[in-house]
Formats: sequence, structure tokens, C-alpha cells
Amino acid sequence: MELSQINEVLGLATSAVGLTGKATSTVAAIKGLIEGDKPKDSGEAAKLLNALASELTAANMLNVQLSDALKTLSQTLQRQDEFEREKARYELFQTGERDLVFRLREDQANGQPIHFICPVCLNRDKLFSFIAGEGDFKVCQTDNNHVFRFRDTPIRQPSRLNTRWDPLDPYGDD
Ligand SMILES: [Zn+2]
Repeated sequence: MELSQINEVLGLATSAVGLTGKATSTVAAIKGLIEGDKPKDSGEAAKLLNALASELTAANMLNVQLSDALKTLSQTLQRQDEFEREKARYELFQTGERDLVFRLREDQANGQPIHFICPVCLNRDKLFSFIAGEGDFKVCQTDNNHVFRFRDTPIRQPSRLNTRWDPLDPYGDD
């Protein structure tokens, strides 16, 4: 649904629900009592006017509730719209190690440095969370369980100096 549509409905609903069906029939009954040919019944008219006042109060409360609900809906759609527009600035990117992340599009950067964001947070929580790290992996700044492999640098063979010290071969030269 278009946002302008929602706002239009909001305006219409706020002004249109002034009189409920019940209030309208009470108004008709009051008119009948006041304008009719039959002798006027002031007591009955007073009762009906009081009833009408209550009905209008109830209708007004409904109006307020309806208006609040429509505003909330409008805000939700507005946020959804902003999210979709922000998300459109990113493209799916496959790392050298075939992990999928999102990367800021060059033509959408608007002066921002090109960066990567976490696809888990984006898809699950609609959250734009940077992934950072200069090694083989980049880690999500929101949840460090979200890890993405960008490179696979071969692990250096441990040198003898790094192996466990052996008391039978204290100098490691055997
Ligand atoms: Zn994440």
C-alpha cells in the first residue's frame, strides 16, 4: 500500500467516524420528539440528549483508537520503506571463500567508504551491522557468531621454536 494512500485514509477516517449509526438514530429520535406534531415530551428528549452525549463520547474514543492504529500502521510502513531504500544501496557479494555478504554499491556510496554488512542481521533483524576484520575473516559487530571467510591464507608450518618444549631434547636439535 502506498504511504500517500494510508495518509489519505487516516484523514478520512478521523473526520468520517464522527457519528455512529446509533448516534444518528438517536438524533432522529430527538428531532422526532422536538419537531413532531405530537405533544412534546421534554423528559424523554432530555434522556435522549443524554444518551446521545454518551454515544458521541464512545464514538470519539473509537475515533482516537482508530486514529492511533492508523498512525502506527503509517509509521510501520514508513520504516519499512526506509529499510527497503537503505537495503537497495547494497548488493550481494561472494567472498573469495564463497561466503555471501552484502557490500555497499559503488554508485550508491554517497561518499561513504565501501564496506560490508552482515547478511544474517540484515535478513533476520533488518539491521545494518558492519562486518570488520583485516585477517581471513570478518566478524559481525552485532553478533560475533556471525563470521565470514574472505581469504584462506595458508597456515605457516609451526617452527621448532613454537613446538612444545621437550625436556629430553631441551634445545630442540635432536
Ligand atoms: Zn550479524
